[in-house]
Order: sequence, then structure tokens, then C-alpha cells
Amino acid sequence: TPRPLIAGNWKMFGLEASLDEARAVAAAVSARPPAARVAICPPATLLHRMAQAMAGEAVIVGGQDCHPAEAGPHTGDISAAMLADAGARLVILGHSERRAAYQESDALVAAKVEAALAAGLEPIVCFGETCDQRDAGQAEAVVTGMARGSLPASLAGQAFAVAYEPVWAIGTGRTPTPADIEHVHQALRGVLVERFGDHGASVPILYGGSVKPDNARQILATPEVGGALVGGASLTAADFLAIIAAA
Ligand code: 13P
Repeated sequence: TPRPLIAGNWKMFGLEASLDEARAVAAAVSARPPAARVAICPPATLLHRMAQAMAGEAVIVGGQDCHPAEAGPHTGDISAAMLADAGARLVILGHSERRAAYQESDALVAAKVEAALAAGLEPIVCFGETCDQRDAGQAEAVVTGMARGSLPASLAGQAFAVAYEPVWAIGTGRTPTPADIEHVHQALRGVLVERFGDHGASVPILYGGSVKPDNARQILATPEVGGALVGGASLTAADFLAIIAAA
């Protein structure tokens, strides 16, 4: 099994001063190498500066989205090649905030995954059910359906991760029980193995949604949890390092 991946998603937070938090994470990770791989995905405006600050450090830098095309007349968009050029090594794709705010479909997310692979980026592809869908007993069906639609066949043999992020757990302080997380992750594992065979058996399945220093150990010890995608608690070095240490 691969090392767990602890990835920070800074979302639309962070100005130049925030690079100090990333530097503090890198200093601690270098001083005492953790069991996990560590990544930070800052807003695009900080990518290049953060990649430079993290040069030679054991912290990977990633983007939060990319356009499916390599270049073109797409005002305001950023291509996977541009993320890579700025120093990114991975990219979050299909986050529920983008699916909701920009109507990103599974097919679009799959096209973005293809673009990321073409640029040499490691995608972290996200899925999760809404509160209504969970209440209706559809969590597993929704998440596995999103996975089937968002993971193109070209991922075979490539480095990538997936993330289960229940929409109702993001930024709310609410989390599923470990049993519920395990249940969905097992269903996702089934899709990965069905789609990618042996390789699918080792793809890390991250959990995301209100991962905090006080629940990280339990969540990360849950079977089939291969890491965490951390929002709010990745913004300060102290909280993020506590989660990294729990892996
Ligand atoms: P929070 O950790 O702030 O709940 O955010 C989770 C998330 O959306 C990470 O991508």
C-alpha cells in the first residue's frame, strides 16, 4: 500500500503572508519526516511563489482546478500545463464546490482528468453526496456513479488519488461515522478495482470534510482511508501539522 496522502485545499484563502504557514509546515516535515506524503493546494495566485518556497522540501504543491484544454480563448481559466509550469505536481478536480458553483458534470471532470494527465499532474478526483441524498439512502449509489463518470480509462497505470467528500461534512464540523466512511470507501474501492484491476486496489482513497486535529487519528485509522483532503484546518501550520502527524 502506498504512503497516505495528506493534502491541504486552501480554497479561496491565502495571500502572500500565508506562505509563512507553508514554510512552517515544510520546516517541520523536513525536521521529522512523517509517514504521509504532504501536499498544499493554494489559490492559483500563490502557486508559483509557493512552489519556489517549497523547492527542495518534502511538500508537494498542487492546483485546485484546471480547464480541459491545453490553451485557448478561455478568459479566466488556467490549463493543466500552466499549473505544471507554475510548479504544481498535482491538481484537485471535481470538488463539490466547483460542481455546484460551475455545474461541473462528471464528463467535464473526466476531461479535466485527461488534461491533468497529459500535463504530468497527479489528479485528486473528488466525489460526495449531499445531505438529501444521504437521507434518501443514496450515498453509495451517488458516489460510485460519480466515480464511474469522472474517472477516465486513461488513468490506468497513472498516479492518482480519489477523495470522498460528503457535501454536508464540508466546513460544517459534522463528519460521517467511521463505519459510514468505511462503507463508502469500500464501494469506491470496488469501482477502482473493477475499472483498473490491481492498480485500482492501491489507489489512495482520501476522506475530506471537517477533518480536524481532534478527529484525524480516528478517521485516518479507518479501513480504506488512504489520507485526507483538508480544508479549513490546512490554513494554519499548527492544525495541519497535527493532522499530518496523525497519519
Ligand atoms: P473542510 O476541511 O474545511 O471541511 O473542507 C473540506 C474540503 O472541502 C477539502 O477539499
